[in-house]
Amino acid sequence: MTNAEQILQTYFGYDTFRAGQKQTIDNIMSGDNTLAVMPTGGGKSLCYQIPGMALDGVAIIISPLISLMKDQVDALQALGIPATYINSSLTTGEQQTRLRDIEAGNCKFVYVAPERFESSVFISAIRRIRIALVAFDEAHCISQWGHDFRPSYRSIIPNLKQLPDIPVTVALTATATEEVMADIQALLHIGKHNVVKTGFERENLSFHVVKGKDKATYIRSFMKEHQDESGIIYTATRKQSDRLFEQLTKRGVPAAKYHAGLTEDERKQAQASFIHDEKTVMIATNAFGMGIDKSNVRFIIHYAMPMTIEAYYQEAGRAGRDGEHSDCILLFSPQDVQLQKFLIEQSLIDENAKQNEYRKLQAMINYCHTHGCLTSYILEYFNDDDRTGSTCGRCSNCLYRHERIDITEEAQMILSCVKRMGERFGVSLTAKVLKGSKDSRLHQFRLHTISTYGILSAYTEKELTERIQFLVAEQLLATQDGKFPTLRLNQNSVDVLKGKRTVWIYTAPIPSNETVDYHEDLFSALRELRKRMADEQDVPPYVLFSDATLKELSRYFPETKEDMLSIKGIGEKKYDQYGKAFLTTVKEWLRENPDVSRPVKIAGAAPVPKKKEQADDRPSHTISYTMFQSGKSIKDIALIRELTSQTVEGHIFKAFKDGHPLAWGIFFNEEEETAILAARDELEETRLKPLKESLPDEYDYTTIKAVLVKNELI
Ligand SMILES: [Zn+2]
Repeated sequence: MTNAEQILQTYFGYDTFRAGQKQTIDNIMSGDNTLAVMPTGGGKSLCYQIPGMALDGVAIIISPLISLMKDQVDALQALGIPATYINSSLTTGEQQTRLRDIEAGNCKFVYVAPERFESSVFISAIRRIRIALVAFDEAHCISQWGHDFRPSYRSIIPNLKQLPDIPVTVALTATATEEVMADIQALLHIGKHNVVKTGFERENLSFHVVKGKDKATYIRSFMKEHQDESGIIYTATRKQSDRLFEQLTKRGVPAAKYHAGLTEDERKQAQASFIHDEKTVMIATNAFGMGIDKSNVRFIIHYAMPMTIEAYYQEAGRAGRDGEHSDCILLFSPQDVQLQKFLIEQSLIDENAKQNEYRKLQAMINYCHTHGCLTSYILEYFNDDDRTGSTCGRCSNCLYRHERIDITEEAQMILSCVKRMGERFGVSLTAKVLKGSKDSRLHQFRLHTISTYGILSAYTEKELTERIQFLVAEQLLATQDGKFPTLRLNQNSVDVLKGKRTVWIYTAPIPSNETVDYHEDLFSALRELRKRMADEQDVPPYVLFSDATLKELSRYFPETKEDMLSIKGIGEKKYDQYGKAFLTTVKEWLRENPDVSRPVKIAGAAPVPKKKEQADDRPSHTISYTMFQSGKSIKDIALIRELTSQTVEGHIFKAFKDGHPLAWGIFFNEEEETAILAARDELEETRLKPLKESLPDEYDYTTIKAVLVKNELI
């Protein structure tokens, strides 16, 4: 076992390195300047922490995120590693004390902000000590091409050269374009063979896009399924935050809120209660998140679509930093697009920049409408070559591929409606015609007389609008640009109309929790213990153990120190610091549950996620009617639903009586209607059988009933 592996096991409790970690560490250990590009949560900090511990001297970590330094130092100290930080949050006196500590050799790790290198006191202090390595965290800040350029980061370089022994340098970042990478390499003298890039993919994140659902209802059911899990809900506006906060709090969801309209104190308090697991859900605008390193965020829900993929991936990326499975859900509605367009129009940027923003917005909109793999879509957007064209198998598009629905007939109805409307109208009026709306504009253009009027009346106008927009996004329908874009057919539409092309949509159920294969009562007892101990030491709970580790404990309930050490995330050091208390809690629980069976621990085996069945709770006749309106025959519906044709017929007529329109032309023509009505007038009784017998044979019961229902005679 190498020294690095030993440190990994003893201090961090892991058996193996994650992608890229080993190469980065080996490079640093052999004195090569290195650039590591790894996704958030990919374990970047281990890349300098392990060599920092293995090498002689002090490791200096430069980070622009002052708010994170304390957490990182706390985490190292929790492992029994002497670490400290110096930044502007400390008084001059405190800073001097810490500098003396460093000079006295009492620290292995020192975290500083880039500005520190402008202080001659600091420079002369570190000139007197042995430096093991210098790590540039968030290294993209060093490049003027990066989206977060910090001039102070660049000015470190000449100062570093004043040191008697120039130490090995490592640069780490999660976001770097080719341009930025080249810049970092040139500035920090990193050879092309010393660039370690693992790609941007976050394998523990599942992306979901949810469309056509009432957002508030969706969130309420999601909260029910994910109680006690930590998550962030991003809203587009402060008003949305306030409203959602009120709704969820009323329902007993422990939520906090954060936006620019609150006082600094309120924001600080909200953030602290979230970090310390007192409030599990944070409802916030995009003002929240910079410098938050809470590792056990299990879900990020976007209540509205953000403006760019960059912004989305950054915000969604705050989920699952502990490497555990997490969900990133985007709730899409067409109004989101209007809001973002409005914001672009209102911004004070020039026309060129606006066009660029529109392009980025379009990429975001396409993400919401694509039926390809969502993960691949994002990676392709960032030109992450490694995975282009492949599928992740865990996003909503990959996962529910088998739950696709053939909507070809429905699409044909929509397309033929557009054609019959003369390709002169926009989305909303087309939806009204399909719905069979009584809107006066329809009469004005005589659109209530065309044959597709009311043909999809079983849907709401909102659903129809969504369907039409889906067809546009899939390029099965074109739009003519302008202030009020009109719908037009294109070659793809023609293919659909001719039946040469099938149109699929995919349903997106609420992602359900993984099957619980650990004991929840033990898990919550361990969580309580963790919270208590964390509070005593004034550190966030996840600094002690991650949720993943607590779940393992509640799955395998170790009874000895050796067993404890085989749990992911528990090494010797962590065990010495905290292990006993947790072991005691596990043992107590075992005493109360003597009959519990212990599963065999299989390294690397992950719990299999269970899919929940969704029940259709609409009345039976509405279901039949909806199917009928989507173009299915009564016979087919009877077959699918395992009912008799008569029952289905009854359903459809009942729906009509409830006020839903029907296209009667499917059942009879004018001539048949006249004949049936005339025959009924002749008869003195109202029973069906004599009426049927008085008519020619080709008049079946369905036709006769349909005429009578339409004329309100039965
Ligand atoms: Zn996928």
